[in-house]
Amino acid sequence: AKERRDGRPAVYDPSLHHELLDRMTLESDLRRALIDQELEVHYQPTYMLDSGELVGVEALVRWPHPERGMVPPDVFVPIAEQTGMIHELGRFVLSQACAQGQEWAELSPFVDLTVSVNVSVKQLQRREFVAEVQETLRESGFPPQRLVLEMTESILVSDTETILRTLRAFKEMGVRIAIDDFGTGYSSLSYLHNFPVDILKIDRSFVERLSGTGAEESLVETIVHLGRTLKLETIAEGIEQPEQIHALRRLGCEQAQGYHFGRPGPAETVTQLMLATAAR
Ligand code: C2E
Ligand code: CA
Ligand code: CA
Ligand code: CA
Repeated sequence: AKERRDGRPAVYDPSLHHELLDRMTLESDLRRALIDQELEVHYQPTYMLDSGELVGVEALVRWPHPERGMVPPDVFVPIAEQTGMIHELGRFVLSQACAQGQEWAELSPFVDLTVSVNVSVKQLQRREFVAEVQETLRESGFPPQRLVLEMTESILVSDTETILRTLRAFKEMGVRIAIDDFGTGYSSLSYLHNFPVDILKIDRSFVERLSGTGAEESLVETIVHLGRTLKLETIAEGIEQPEQIHALRRLGCEQAQGYHFGRPGPAETVTQLMLATAAR
């Protein structure tokens, strides 16, 4: 075995080495994937809890890697954020989502689908971001009022001046803002009050605990009430069981998404859903 100059054996952790290599190949693979347009956008439906009406979709990026199979966004989005590729990734998802949203709008005048796009803090902090969104909307013809940008609570405490200016610009355009994974962060209520936010998305970890016994309902109830007080829409994510729907309805939550209603899928699956709705 190799020895260091001080005589102690060199610490070589093969798993660490592999992790690093893996991370480096993933990074260069992602760079190539962006150039080769290997990424795709899937869409998960959102429904009104009272009427069961299909009201929107959330765009979720997918990477079908030629050798590794599907790489989850939880793995490659952070890499994109750390390397600056998030801007290009974000532009790709946004332009796909707006173009698709407009296609759906033209296909069926009966369903006015909202399209939600996840946006990372890094994107928001970039000067050009507002202009890019505006340009994408113009190019696609998709109405700003039907676009929702989802961002996590961390924006409420980071670089507030820039973020506030950016969110106000979106408000003026008519684009709506959702706070994603709400309740998992550390935002204070006053921040939430000061920011032009339109929607609270209740994190899946809270919805998971809606077992039906009522014991774990208070957190969700608090968020729904907060939403009502601040005149915000509430959307619950990660609904997997019917009991959760009953609880959420009772608590006054307005919209929901989750595997129970539909998994994220290619645009065509949403088109089928829409056509089925329109035919009713
Ligand atoms: P998120 O924004 O909180 O998205 C919800 C995640 O929960 C999605 O995972 C979705 O597939 C999953 N999900 C939906 N319903 C259920 C359910 O009933 N049960 C369970 N167990 N999971 C459910 P996904 O697609 O793997 O995305 C993970 C995260 O990656 C997203 O969390 C979001 O933070 C990020 N992400 C995805 N697409 C983009 C993107 O285009 N841009 C950025 N910046 N981030 C993205
Ligand atoms: Ca989201
Ligand atoms: Ca979430
Ligand atoms: Ca998230």
